[in-house]
Formats: sequence, C-alpha cells, structure tokens
Amino acid sequence: MTLGEALAAARQKIDRLDARLLLQYATGCTHAELLASPETPVIAPAAAQFAEWVERRAAGEPLAYLVGEMEFRGRVFQVSPAVLVPRPETEVLVEEALARLRGIPVPRVLDLGTGSGIVAVSLALACPTAELVALDLSPVALAVATNNAGRLGARVDFRESDWYAALGEESFDLIVSNPPYIAAGDPHLAGDGLPFEPQMALTDGADGLACIRHIVAGAAAHLKPGGWLLFEHGYDQGEASRNLLTAAGFKAAQTFPDLAGTDRVSGGHL
Ligand code: GLN
Repeated sequence: MTLGEALAAARQKIDRLDARLLLQYATGCTHAELLASPETPVIAPAAAQFAEWVERRAAGEPLAYLVGEMEFRGRVFQVSPAVLVPRPETEVLVEEALARLRGIPVPRVLDLGTGSGIVAVSLALACPTAELVALDLSPVALAVATNNAGRLGARVDFRESDWYAALGEESFDLIVSNPPYIAAGDPHLAGDGLPFEPQMALTDGADGLACIRHIVAGAAAHLKPGGWLLFEHGYDQGEASRNLLTAAGFKAAQTFPDLAGTDRVSGGHL
C-alpha cells in the first residue's frame, strides 16, 4: 500500500486532518512528503499501526490519546486517558493569567485541578520568576503533569489535593483553574472523544457550577490582598460566574471570550 492509498482509505472512516496526522505519526513522514510523494510504499509495521489507529479513532478515541501527545500554546505535552485532552480555548485562561502577573516581581500562583499541567507549565515557562503550586486529586494525572514539567523545563510544585484541602495557610497573587464544568447528563458529554476522557475532569456530576462555587468560596482564604481568581467555564456560565464572584466579595468581576467569541473565562480580584 502507498501513502496516498492509505490516506484515501482512512478518509472514508475519519476526519481528513485526523487521517493525515495519524499517517504522519505512523510513518514518520512530514506533511510535505505526503504531498510530494504519495506513491511511496508504507512499510508493514507502519501500515498496521495506522490501520489500528484509524479504527480506534473511528470508534471515538481522541487522536491525542492514540499518539500520546498534544500541542498547547506551541508546546507539545504528553497526555494519557488520565487527563483531559488540551483544548485551544484554555489559551484564554493562560493569556488572562499572564496579563495579571505582569509587574509582580515574584508572583505566587496556584493552579487547581492541573490535569496534564498545561496551565501551570505554560505560566511557569512564560513567567520564569513565578512560584507555581499545582494541585490535583488524581495521582495519575499528577504523574503526567510532573513528567510534562520536567520535559519542558518548568519549575512547578505539584501536590495531591482535593481542591484547597492540602494547602494550609498559603496565599497567592493569582489562583487559576480549568475545573469540570459540564452538567451531569449534558448531551455534550457524549460528543466526539469525550466518553474516553476522565469524567471527573469534565463534569461535576451536578448542575455544572458545583466546582466553580467551591473554588470561588474558598479563594479569598488563599489570596493576598488584591489577588486575582480566574477560571474557565462553559459557554452559558459567564453571568452565573460573575454573580458568584461578586457575592463572594470579588471586585471587577468580568468574563473573557475565547477565540470563537464564546464566554470562556471569568475572574475578579479582592
Ligand atoms: N471545554 C471542554 C469541553 O467542552 C470541557 C472542559 C472542562 O470541563 N473543563 O469539551
């Protein structure tokens, strides 16, 4: 079988971009090589790997879990089914967080529910003077995050904790989080790839705001005066998030859209 034939066959079953990326991962070819030399034969082990991946992708497994990695803000992070697949909309959380750190010489930052560590590692690398503490309930997720920080050269203090529980008296200039915010039973949970992701990272098992309420309620005890809380949420949770922030005593509660123009991150400061 040639590269061109393998690609054409896969496109009958899965998205064309996914088919091309999986073929590149399986064969080690670049996109340019696929375009320039579609008549190149695919050796048997690569063909078998590709065929297996195409079947699994067709059955819904996210591409990131098949190949074991995913890019976020220009860096490659290793992922496993123990962590959420990094999503581009989370870049808004990182950008807004970085804007709050400017001007603070040695900012202390807390990341709640760090998962693969994309937010904490991105902040640590973009702001090298920052002291990052990143928490997660899942030891397996923490192992993924620790590995990512090590590979990318980020200094992050990872700890196992149920939200704020293991923190003690520590306080921070900024708290960030991408918590589970999809409501139980939301049809989106059955969407492409989501059934393969850790459900504890996607849904609170309630109305979608349970973890956000907990994060907002506990933030003041761990923020320095003037400190900021920023968290990601669903497209229809901006107003509820601002109301929770204001009720908890946060000032300038505001919502930031993602690149698709959807409400995605809310925050405020003490
Ligand atoms: N943005 C993700 C989705 O809609 C959910 C991420 C999360 O729950 N933190 O698939």
